[in-house]
Amino acid sequence: MHIACLDLEGVLIPEIWVGLAERTGIADLRATTRDVPDYDQLMRQRLRLLNQHKLGLPDIQAVISTLAPLPGAREFLDWLRERCQVVILSDTYYEFALPLMRQLGYPTLMCHKLSVDENGRVIDYHLRQKDPKRQAVKAFHALNFKVIAAGDSYNDTSMLSEADAGIFYCPPENVARAFPQFPVARNYEELKSAFAEAIARL
Ligand SMILES: [Mg+2]
Repeated sequence: MHIACLDLEGVLIPEIWVGLAERTGIADLRATTRDVPDYDQLMRQRLRLLNQHKLGLPDIQAVISTLAPLPGAREFLDWLRERCQVVILSDTYYEFALPLMRQLGYPTLMCHKLSVDENGRVIDYHLRQKDPKRQAVKAFHALNFKVIAAGDSYNDTSMLSEADAGIFYCPPENVARAFPQFPVARNYEELKSAFAEAIARL
């Protein structure tokens, strides 16, 4: 029995913070862990910016609603869900992902959570656990599933290593070079082939 673990941003949807930065004009929201390596510092900065610009959760969700899944993502996901169980493992937040999950038919999503006050102000964030993508793969192994995982970046590599088969989807060149053990798919047709091959093999 197989279970597919998919990263969300960069695999099925565009990067949410980048989309937020573009649509709100708040350029500093573009910062990633490449710019601010300390994740807590980065998130505090993001929450501070949202509050400074008086963007509450309803405003943010309205902006995110204007984003769309990557072209072909819904079809790919439906194709995969006909062939095995699919779980999305993401480092985003439920409150942010919701408008996009609607457009993907609400697949199972494991990610993190925000705290929002009664005025819609985002006041804090809560990570579900440490190294959540790897922990999820380990848990599925304990349930006797073979795990096939796909992701696009550094935060996916522990998931790809832990899985029985790990696949990069459109990774940045430096990431692909740093982890040559993972095959690279550059479009959904290649990703379908990689999954079909792994399902047949495992
Ligand atoms: Mg990603």
